[in-house]
Amino acid sequence: MSKFDYDLFTIGAGSGGVRASRMAANYGARVGVAEEYRVGGTCVIRGCVPKKLFVYASEYGHSFKDAEGFGWTAENVNFSWRKLIDNKDNEIDRLNGIYIRNLKNSGVDIFQSRATIKDEYTVHLEAENRDVTAKKILVATGGAPWTDESIKGHDLGITSNEAFHLDELPSHVVVAGGGYIAIEFACIFRGLGCEVCLVYRGEDILRYFDADVSTQVHREMQRQGIRVVTQAVFDEIEDIGGGQKRVHLSNGSKIDTGLVFWAVGRKPATQNLGLENAGVELAENDAIKVDNYSKSTTDSIYAVGDVTDRVNLTPVAIREGAAFAETCFNNNPTKTDYRFIPKAVFSQPPVGSVGYAEHEARAEYKNVDIYKTDFRPMKHTLSGSEERMMMKIVVDGDSDRVLGCHIVGDDAGEMIQCIAIAVKAGLTKAQFDDTVALHPTAAEELVTMREKYKPAD
Ligand code: NDP
Repeated sequence: MSKFDYDLFTIGAGSGGVRASRMAANYGARVGVAEEYRVGGTCVIRGCVPKKLFVYASEYGHSFKDAEGFGWTAENVNFSWRKLIDNKDNEIDRLNGIYIRNLKNSGVDIFQSRATIKDEYTVHLEAENRDVTAKKILVATGGAPWTDESIKGHDLGITSNEAFHLDELPSHVVVAGGGYIAIEFACIFRGLGCEVCLVYRGEDILRYFDADVSTQVHREMQRQGIRVVTQAVFDEIEDIGGGQKRVHLSNGSKIDTGLVFWAVGRKPATQNLGLENAGVELAENDAIKVDNYSKSTTDSIYAVGDVTDRVNLTPVAIREGAAFAETCFNNNPTKTDYRFIPKAVFSQPPVGSVGYAEHEARAEYKNVDIYKTDFRPMKHTLSGSEERMMMKIVVDGDSDRVLGCHIVGDDAGEMIQCIAIAVKAGLTKAQFDDTVALHPTAAEELVTMREKYKPAD
């Protein structure tokens, strides 16, 4: 009989925590999991899933216009924010139920409680005011959006957490940030008919992506009527009554708006978790320091997902959770492979990206060849939209290996998931070219780009 209540106790039932818990239980471990909010975590409850539902809703805003060129007349088109929220909530409830059922079916005990670490083998369940012990503790608490508290009136703005539950759709939104969430929500609000202003502190939005991606998304956002203000931050947010706020920018301008949206990043959720009670060390940004097997600086405590701030994406957290369960409960030491992870930004049009950006390839490889194309997709010849599509392939000129692929345009995320298989497998540009095109598609460009890109002198 073990001296512990559980073999594994997981704090946080999000993507990483659920996968690790279920797999460990399936390998025979006695597993408990505590969740203070809702089972499913950020991705399912207030992240990827509801966001994507909002993206679908928003895209119709453009589709009705596009349809006219194909002979349709869409008159008296109305949008009900309330209906979208209700339907979205029903779907999230359904998914939440599935996650709970899956955990229970695997034999995992679920505790609806905030949990804190008391020592290296003990977790305190606040809602039940009692302790449980476990041979291993997995911290999978994710991250949370932050707002810049040094800004006067910062609390007049919302974050993505609240955006999923707004009572009304505002007529005007100001978004702070130039990363995933800022871009995605700016496009969502615009498609739903709001006036949108995006305020970014740098010059190039989505700066972690290839520069051509950044330029193309910037251009497309402006084409849709989103005002993009660069090299500016919020100085102050003022309540001017009637539900309106006035945002004072560092460049001296002022914007009156119904909604201020902070999307300036997320921070690892390690505050008040009691990690110091067990000697778990944090990095400078408060992320839990872990080794290649997700073990913290304390032997019995592991961490996966955004709380470790490695690659903050749902499928990565799932991989890390699975690798942890393999390592600790199936006697099969497993590391997560972080190379060539496909990424998508659900802007409108969306971004799909895998592997090296051009600047990253040039920093590492001597000879880099670029193939790129920028064209008006067939659909828009009749829709009348000026939207353009960009595709770019980054190649090691010496080995001919495709190092990266970047797409901005309809279905970019769907395309890049498939292209990522080829890029990760190390295929060459010649092998891409050897594949017969599928006509008429936009994706056929990926196997028909023959001319190396030469920048204009
Ligand atoms: P990001 O890190 O993507 O972007 C944060 C943005 O805020 C950057 O543009 C950053 O500027 C800016 N910023 C940071 N600090 C300040 C500040 N003090 N004042 C003004 N601007 C500031 O974070 P997000 O919140 O958008 O997303 C968090 C993470 O969630 C992402 O990194 C991603 O891993 C994940 N995510 C993934 C999605 C997907 O897969 N589609 C969707 C949504 C989130 P700068 O660029 O100059 O640093």
